[in-house]
Amino acid sequence: MKSLTAFGHEKIELVESTAPQAGSDLVLVAPILTGVCGTDLEIIHSKIDPAYVIYPTVIGHEWCGRIEELGDNVSGLSVGDRVVVEGIIPCESCFECISGNSNRCTTYDEIGFTRPGAAAELICVPARLVHKIADSVSNESAALVEPTAVVTQGILKAAPKPGAKVLIIGDGTIALIAGRLIRNWKPSSVDMLGLKAGQSALAEQAGINRFLTSQPEDKYDLIIEAAGSSERISGALRMLVRGGKLLLLGFTGSDVNTPISIDDVVNGDLSILASFGYSRSAWKATVDLLYSGELDLTFLVTHKFALADFAEAVSALESAPAPRGKIAFAIGQ
Ligand SMILES: [Zn+2]
Ligand SMILES: [Zn+2]
Repeated sequence: MKSLTAFGHEKIELVESTAPQAGSDLVLVAPILTGVCGTDLEIIHSKIDPAYVIYPTVIGHEWCGRIEELGDNVSGLSVGDRVVVEGIIPCESCFECISGNSNRCTTYDEIGFTRPGAAAELICVPARLVHKIADSVSNESAALVEPTAVVTQGILKAAPKPGAKVLIIGDGTIALIAGRLIRNWKPSSVDMLGLKAGQSALAEQAGINRFLTSQPEDKYDLIIEAAGSSERISGALRMLVRGGKLLLLGFTGSDVNTPISIDDVVNGDLSILASFGYSRSAWKATVDLLYSGELDLTFLVTHKFALADFAEAVSALESAPAPRGKIAFAIGQ
């Protein structure tokens, strides 16, 4: 089988290898649609914190697929089921997992980072992390469960009150998902501070009230930083009401610092929150939302490539002009 393997320091190749087999408690899945994101670029360019990746690695942590083979001891699943699979593999026995914070499992292990990902023709995964997807959910929405679960985790932590005035900083996939998802918390308005005017049509589809490309005068109850822009983090603090919250979801790349005015934070009674990955419950909440039909993210997948065209996909990820949503590999059916 073929798999898109990153070796670090820009080297990425489509590697031919023997297909994995579904062992005990495992399921063999054929990926259908596998998205790529800025974190994959960080893996390719060796810019990711080295604690979170083992090279060489098959990339691909945002995906959906179809079950090809069931290992021993697997129940409740069938060959042919369309599924999504939690990417963070929790140990289920450390104090973080037991207290429901499996995103902070003390043994970090994640599909597409420390074990092979889904930019491949086949992938073997633990059966306990597999979720069936309703027929009504598109492959595009299903492939976006992973980044959506990341956003769910962050919003649950920020716990916005109904009627909150919200600003999203950034206009990439995480920002657009955040803009769409925050609607479920009944905000009074959601503005987006983007970089590219060409993203405004996607922002409109996500339900954003105002798409801005320059800093507004308004004050907000909640600002979600989803651009990974260190300069904008400092500016965001000055756009919060007293008691306001800043939620950091964007990755700036490792070793990036930004100055903040401590006085602004203390006098403003502000909260700066950040969030890593997703817990098992945030993942389940996301899958349930898709199942209910309340969330459809099909519009967000704007570019599809064959695995063999990975060089074009990487260059689109780096510099495709707007409008640009999720870039994905269409692998199987
Ligand atoms: Zn990602
Ligand atoms: Zn654990």
